[in-house]
Amino acid sequence: MKFTVLTIFPELVAAMRAHGILRRAVQRGQIDICAIDIREFAAGRHRVTDDRPYGGGCGMVMKPEPLAAAIRFARGRMPGASVVHLTPQGRPFCQAAAWDLALRGGLILVCGRYEGIDERVCSDFIDEEISIGDYVLTGGELPALVVIDAVARLIPGVLGGESSAVKDSFHESLLEHGHYTRPRVFEGHAVPDVLLSGNHREIEKWRREASLVRTFLKRPDLLMHRALSPAEVEILQKWRSDIEKIIRNQSLHCADSLSGDQQAG
Ligand code: SAM
Repeated sequence: MKFTVLTIFPELVAAMRAHGILRRAVQRGQIDICAIDIREFAAGRHRVTDDRPYGGGCGMVMKPEPLAAAIRFARGRMPGASVVHLTPQGRPFCQAAAWDLALRGGLILVCGRYEGIDERVCSDFIDEEISIGDYVLTGGELPALVVIDAVARLIPGVLGGESSAVKDSFHESLLEHGHYTRPRVFEGHAVPDVLLSGNHREIEKWRREASLVRTFLKRPDLLMHRALSPAEVEILQKWRSDIEKIIRNQSLHCADSLSGDQQAG
């Protein structure tokens, strides 16, 4: 999978490919990450890429000619790729969107700066718009790198044999269970016994339940849209009956203390 970032700050992209899992994946030829400097497509000695907005107002706008030329150049090198504009006005990025992008024949990621890019480039040169969240950053480079990182780790082989993206949070709308490593007891907190038992069936069961409880406590919205398996329904029913027991006991305690108060009165 090839990622090409169109930016006026190509050095930000170079840092990304120089470290960690992505560096290894680039070296193995599983992915390629490169940057195209939009300035190289700008005319004149000063290679200006921005100009004042028509209609007045504050801020600058990225000029259409250099950006359009850069997109045409990138498309020529990657004919099957999708052109994605990073913008706070785009489709919210999520794990499902990352899986979707991982199936594309390459990504050309267009980074805006200032007030954004000229609207005519948005309408004529862009296949889709993606936002990494409901907040505004100074440029599209960090969003582009977020997208690259999330998509690249889904490309077969990038994570290496031992890790799998399908065990991570958001796969099938669940958060992942907690992880523990040595020491066995840290500042008075011990690792759950089951993880030391060597019983893989029990460990798997514990992890499934831990994942479900986490999702319920931290992101109940994810469970609302998920088709639960019979085993998961059973787990939820067990919690329900435990919670009902706790509430029944509370009611008994309340009734006891009330009648005690009345007798004392
Ligand atoms: N004036 C624009 C607006 O209100 O929609 C915001 C422009 S922002 C200051 C400059 C650039 O940062 C944008 O063109 C876009 O490329 C990038 N950007 C900022 N926030 C983003 C976000 N949440 N997701 C994706 N890109 C973002």
